[in-house]
Amino acid sequence: LPRIVVAGNGQLGQMLQQAGAPLQLEVMPVDPNADIELGLRPDDVITVEIEHWSDSVSGLQLKQHPNFRNAAALHAVIDRQRQKALLDRLDVPTSPWVSLESGDLNAQLESVADKVIVKRRRGGYDGRGQWRWQKGDQPEAEWAGECIAEAMIPFSHEVSLVGARNAAGEKVFYPLTRNWHENGILRASVSNLQVPAQQQKDAEDWLGRIMDDEDYIGVMAMECFVVDGKLLVNELAPRVHNSGHWTQEGSAISQFQLHLRALADLPLITPPVDGASVMYNLLGRNWKPEWLQVPGVHVHWYGKEIRPGRKVGHVNICRADQASLIESLKALQALVDDEDKIVFEWSIDQLQ
Ligand code: ATP
Ligand code: MG
Ligand code: MG
Repeated sequence: LPRIVVAGNGQLGQMLQQAGAPLQLEVMPVDPNADIELGLRPDDVITVEIEHWSDSVSGLQLKQHPNFRNAAALHAVIDRQRQKALLDRLDVPTSPWVSLESGDLNAQLESVADKVIVKRRRGGYDGRGQWRWQKGDQPEAEWAGECIAEAMIPFSHEVSLVGARNAAGEKVFYPLTRNWHENGILRASVSNLQVPAQQQKDAEDWLGRIMDDEDYIGVMAMECFVVDGKLLVNELAPRVHNSGHWTQEGSAISQFQLHLRALADLPLITPPVDGASVMYNLLGRNWKPEWLQVPGVHVHWYGKEIRPGRKVGHVNICRADQASLIESLKALQALVDDEDKIVFEWSIDQLQ
């Protein structure tokens, strides 16, 4: 089996490494911004857990390696303008948008909607690099050339699809996951809810089309808004994704193993999902040992320094059915910090 080298050494690289171990797959996360010789081998396969890095010594070695995967998809996705254009070209529904250019910014913004979100084309995550604008507000001059503007969508909720494709073009998907973002940051995900079959079908069709178009190998995630029961694509992530973390214990094949299977050309089968799961992000908070007494609780700590709002770990709560999951959620809710109890209220609401 090839060695898998991951550009980026945050928690996603760490969890890919954990997933590789039982398959005796060596996974080596590296810092793509470093100026060191990485000692890459010709038969290494290079993947990413981040989308942006500098043209450092290490960064160039990764990018220029003959087995650097998914260069086309990364090119298309790291710039929101190109990403939106890709969705339009493939007839994948997305919120109305324009690219902001110099000139009358008010007119450009109003051409989209009365309420818009302005998003920096490159480099944003967890809601950073975004501004809300509505008719009458003064636009910022620096948005021109740097940002897209998209209509504010009055969604009923947000969902995401995680899927994978291998070199032979085979594709597999998890069930749609329901996500709760607050201030642009994912607080929790719930999976295996009863999802309308048409939503699952549309989402698989679109993500499949995107992965085929980019000749993609590995896991890709697609975030969507649900409006009047129909999906509208928000954005794509050409990598394993926070909304897929529940698959670590919620499926016999986690998204991390699925990604490695696709990259190493191991059999790609539809990941079995029987029970129900909630993923709860630890944002600037430690976990507590007593949580482990709750059935179905699995703690994943990233080993990072705790700073306010920072993703430092997550907890998967996975049970065989929704009723048992609700029991575990209530038990865990009693043990978490007050500010996080709302996460459990939301999760239980989705399951009822
Ligand atoms: P990520 O960490 O997922 O990469 P990001 O910084 O790239 O996030 P987006 O996914 O574009 O940001 O937006 C973050 C959140 O802001 C969305 O999940 C959604 O809750 C809200 N949001 C973004 N765009 C819109 C929109 N057009 N209408 C309504 N809400 C939106
Ligand atoms: Mg994003
Ligand atoms: Mg997002």
